[in-house]
Amino acid sequence: MAKDVMEYRKDFPLLMNDTSAYIDNAATSQRPQCVLDAELKFYMEQNANPLRGSYPLGVAATEVYEDSRKVVKEFINASSTKEIIFTRNTSESINVVAYSYALDNVKEGDEILVSIMEHHSNLLPWQMVADRTGARLKFIECDRDDASVDLNKVEELITERTKIVAITQVSNVLGRENPVRAIADLAHAKGAVILVDGAQSTPHMAVDVQALDADFFVFSGHKLMGPMGIGVLYGKKKLLKNMQPFLRGGEMIDSVQRESAKFAELPHKFEAGTVNAAGAAGLAAAIKYIQSIGFEYMQERELMLTTRAMEGIKKIPHVKVFGSDKPEEHTGIVTFAVDDVHPHDVSEILASDGVDCRAGHHCAQPLLQYLGVNSTTRASFMFYNTEDEVDRFLKSLATIRERMGYGN
Ligand code: PMP
Repeated sequence: MAKDVMEYRKDFPLLMNDTSAYIDNAATSQRPQCVLDAELKFYMEQNANPLRGSYPLGVAATEVYEDSRKVVKEFINASSTKEIIFTRNTSESINVVAYSYALDNVKEGDEILVSIMEHHSNLLPWQMVADRTGARLKFIECDRDDASVDLNKVEELITERTKIVAITQVSNVLGRENPVRAIADLAHAKGAVILVDGAQSTPHMAVDVQALDADFFVFSGHKLMGPMGIGVLYGKKKLLKNMQPFLRGGEMIDSVQRESAKFAELPHKFEAGTVNAAGAAGLAAAIKYIQSIGFEYMQERELMLTTRAMEGIKKIPHVKVFGSDKPEEHTGIVTFAVDDVHPHDVSEILASDGVDCRAGHHCAQPLLQYLGVNSTTRASFMFYNTEDEVDRFLKSLATIRERMGYGN
C-alpha cells in the first residue's frame, strides 16, 4: 500500500535538506537514497571494469551492469536485453540513431518527419541528417490551444518518401501525451521507422515499447529519479543488428585485426569504452523504487498537484497557461506567462520566495516561435511535491505583477 507522501519525501536527502519548493522536475528529478546507495555500493563493493575481468570483482561488476539491463528491459517491456543499450542520456541515444541508422538509410529526396514540439535533442540530429543527405525535414504541428496533434494531418504528412518519424511521447513544454501508437501505425504503413522520445513520459507513466510498436525508444535516467549520465536506447533487434556502431573502441568488438574489426553482438556493439556501471545500478534502483510506489499513486498525486496549480492560476489575473485547459493533459507540466513580465523576472521572483521554477525556451525554440513567444516559465511536478509547495508557488505568483510595478 502506498505511504503518505511525507514518508516518501524522507527517502530524498535533498528534499529533507533544502527548504525551497523544487518544482523543476521536468529538467531533472531528485534522487532517493536507494539510488545514491546503489551507486555508492558499486564503487565500494563491486567496482571493477565490467565485461572484462574474470576475477570475482570483475564478475560482480559485470553482473550488476547486466542485471540493470534486465530491469530496464522489464520496465519498458522490450522483448530482449539485446535491445537495451546504455548511453549517457536521451540526447546521446537519439544521436546514435541519427548517425548509425539514419545516415545509412536516408538519401536525397527522402523525408524525415518530426513534430514542432520536439526538444532540440530530437531536432538537431535530424537537421544534421537532412543537411548531410539532402533529405527534407517536415513538421507535424499541434493545436496552439490544446496542444493536440491531428492524426489526419499526420497521415497526410507521411508519404512514401518518409524514412523516419521522430516524435516525443510527452512534450517538455506543453505536457500533453502524443498518440504515438497511432503515429507508429501510420509510419509503418508507409515503410518508415519511428523513434519515440520518452524523456518526459518514462518518469510518469508505464511504457510498453512493444505495445507502442516503437522502432526506437529513448530516455534518460536523471528524469526518473536515477543518476545523471545514464540513458537508454531501445531499438528493435532487427534494426540494431544491421546498424554500424556509433562509437568504437573498448569491449564493443569480437576480434580486431590490423586493418579491420569484427564487432561484438548486441547490445555491446553500441557500448564503446568503459561503461557507466554505477549509473546503470542507480537507474535500476530508481526503476525498482518507482515500481515499489506504482505509477497509479504517482499519477494520482501529480494530477492533484497539477489541478491545484492550474485552478490557482485561473484565479490570478494576467497569467496564462499554455496547452490544454485539462490538468490530466499536462503530465505534471504547467508552462505559463505573466502579462508584461519577462519569464526570467518571474522565475527570479519565485526563486526569491523559495520556489524553484525554470524560465527560458526549454530547449524547444521552434515550438515557442510557433506559439508566438520567446520564453516562458515552467512549473513541473513529481509525485513527491506537496500541496503546500503548490500554494507557495501560487502565493508568490500572485504578487509578481505588483512587485514589477504593474497593477492587477
Ligand atoms: N527530450 C525531451 C522531451 C526532454 O525533455 C529532454 C530533457 N529536457 C531531452 C530530450 C534531453 O534529455 P537529456 O538532456 O537527458 O539528454
